[in-house]
Amino acid sequence: MTANPHTLPATPEVLISEVGPRDGLQSVKAVMPTDHKLRWITALYEAGLREIEVASFVPAKLLPQMADAAEVVRHALTLPGLTVMALVPNLRGAEAALAAGVHKLTLPVSASAAHSLANVRKTREEMIEEVRAVAALRRDTAPQVMVEVGISTAFGCTLQGEVAEDDVMRIAAQCINAGADEVGLSDTTGYANPAQVKRLFRRLRVEIGAHAGAAHMHNTRGLGLANCLAAYEEGVRTFDASLGGLGGCPYAPGASGNVVTEDLAFMFEAMGVATGLDLGKLMAAREPLRAGLPGEPIYGMTPEAGLPKGFMQKNVVQKGAHV
Ligand code: ZN
Repeated sequence: MTANPHTLPATPEVLISEVGPRDGLQSVKAVMPTDHKLRWITALYEAGLREIEVASFVPAKLLPQMADAAEVVRHALTLPGLTVMALVPNLRGAEAALAAGVHKLTLPVSASAAHSLANVRKTREEMIEEVRAVAALRRDTAPQVMVEVGISTAFGCTLQGEVAEDDVMRIAAQCINAGADEVGLSDTTGYANPAQVKRLFRRLRVEIGAHAGAAHMHNTRGLGLANCLAAYEEGVRTFDASLGGLGGCPYAPGASGNVVTEDLAFMFEAMGVATGLDLGKLMAAREPLRAGLPGEPIYGMTPEAGLPKGFMQKNVVQKGAHV
């Protein structure tokens, strides 16, 4: 696996979708100032990330961390080749996100009835109607925009405990019927294990075929990477992750929430699976994150240990990389 310094980055074999600026920033109390957000997003882009969930369009009084969503989107749109993604919980959020010019919308639909009410104060059925309304708005006003659904609590729920796999599959099919392009599975609570991940993604593909989307895994119990690998072996090629594992799980103090982008990228690159990312620049992107959120704990085993001696990334331009 010797990298040729003259080759261009290989076509990525997996897409790591960075969710830190949304999922991460909305889970911490501190508000990252807008100029820091823009600098951080630019650093993520420079590391090679080509899909970033940059904001969520929700009322600022509910989430002051996201009050600058439109401005952040405007900046992200200046980065060529970047898919600019935003989370929208409802039609009103979708209207604002489309007005800002995003390329992709993602809606959270809970598989757990209890989590749905707690998270978005809507039943699961009401959320599917929201997906239908958003998909219709997209069709009529911005047909080039993608609509994705992430099924939260797909692997278990802190409120209701076990979540029936049949519920997950039924909701996935209903979301596609309602007009969504893709449905992914999210381990919101960090309950998933690799056998379960394989089983659910296999069923998802049977249920909705090529509409099967991303794996959004959490590292709450240390199984984040194992679960991503299980999903990869089941054919999943898009993985959500957060730089520095930002977005700690409120139910497990001290534990990392989202899978750490740096560790996930290292795993794939070490396996010879091209991510399109420059690991050195990815590590460097921790600096603007730290600067924008002083004192906030950030995670990552690879950044702490460093890359193995002699480690060369597959087909990444080494010139200028800090690996
Ligand atoms: Zn998450």
